[in-house]
Amino acid sequence: MPPKTIRSETGAHKGVGPLIPPLAETQRPLRQQVFELVRAAGLIPRVQVAKDLGVSPASVTTITSELIETGLIEEVAAPRDNEAGRGRPAVALGVRAGAHRVAGMKLSDREHTAVVVDFAGNLIADDVIPRRPGPMSVAEILDAIETLLDRVCAKAGLERGALSAVGIGVPGFVDSAEGMVLWSSVLAERSVALAAAAGARLGLPVTIDNDANLVALAELWFGAGRSLPDFAVVTIEHGVGMGFVMNHRIYRGAQRVGMELGHTKVQLDGALCRCGQRGCLEAYIADYALAREATTALNWGHKESQPINVLLESLYDHAKAGNATAKSIFRRAGRYLAVGLSNVVNLFDPSLIILSGERMRYDYLYAAETLDEMDNLAINTGRPRPPIEIHAWGDLLWAHGAAALALSAVSEAILAPQAREIAAQ
Ligand SMILES: [Zn+2]
Repeated sequence: MPPKTIRSETGAHKGVGPLIPPLAETQRPLRQQVFELVRAAGLIPRVQVAKDLGVSPASVTTITSELIETGLIEEVAAPRDNEAGRGRPAVALGVRAGAHRVAGMKLSDREHTAVVVDFAGNLIADDVIPRRPGPMSVAEILDAIETLLDRVCAKAGLERGALSAVGIGVPGFVDSAEGMVLWSSVLAERSVALAAAAGARLGLPVTIDNDANLVALAELWFGAGRSLPDFAVVTIEHGVGMGFVMNHRIYRGAQRVGMELGHTKVQLDGALCRCGQRGCLEAYIADYALAREATTALNWGHKESQPINVLLESLYDHAKAGNATAKSIFRRAGRYLAVGLSNVVNLFDPSLIILSGERMRYDYLYAAETLDEMDNLAINTGRPRPPIEIHAWGDLLWAHGAAALALSAVSEAILAPQAREIAAQ
């Protein structure tokens, strides 16, 4: 008797296991994988590409020919290490630096910073324009972006049209995929489609992101994070931000506005934060919080009109000179930072935490007591806590991260069809 066809009961045969789309983020098209491997290696022979990716040398040859034809990579004669001067030089593949140029920008409360880099990530020019703090209108921010771009292009000896893309970082809640700034301390309005507006003004594709994500991206592309699958970057500046790398990629969350460490609550009904809520971590450790403490605790009412940097330098000088009140202001901020960092450790168990931002010059923030306190607050597993590195790099690094964002947008638009839709927005 032939087997009877079993009728599907209600609820049966609906499948189990994760429903992973055929082209998930981790399964990039092979030519994109080849390109990204060449870009990361600097110089790499074809045979090594095949080995690293576990594919046949024939498919690597086909793909690399295509990439060479498109002008994205080129063959470079590399001297053989152990055959000094004899025989034909080995041929390696490298990114064609002149294929594209992009600009990266960081917009902040204090200054706007920009870089122009080539397709291999080499710096061509940079520029900084100081500004008066405070939120700007959309028209003002577009003017600022255009002025800065034209200035850095002039320094690079390039017409604006010679750029392939622009990446822009702003503080606040940013949906990078949608190109929306939901809230930012540099913008007076909420829910601004900044990527589209800047793109229309500049006549170039523009990608935007939260500035802390760009520091994480800079570490991932150029710094300590290049070889790490997961790590956290915590930025302390005018605000407090966090970028988190998971599986070599920036993790953004379901609505792409996650990782707002600065607005996690550390005190019920606590100090008022710039976001309008109370008790946010940022309201205790960001520079405006320290300045607010200093003006009240040290009776510095007369200094309120001074730029925040001058005020903080003065506070730091007082602390170094032994002023107990000034010291206690930094100490308290350090304790709140310990709470924030221990939460990061307890939630994510990262392999490294990088503290970044100009404020990191104030070593009271990460004094031995702060790290001890963090150890006490992190769960006790008997295993060592992740190392903490301090990178007191300035805004140039953030702008580099924005340039990496633009470089990704360019290469993905060319190599990965799904990413093209995002880049075209
Ligand atoms: Zn807040």
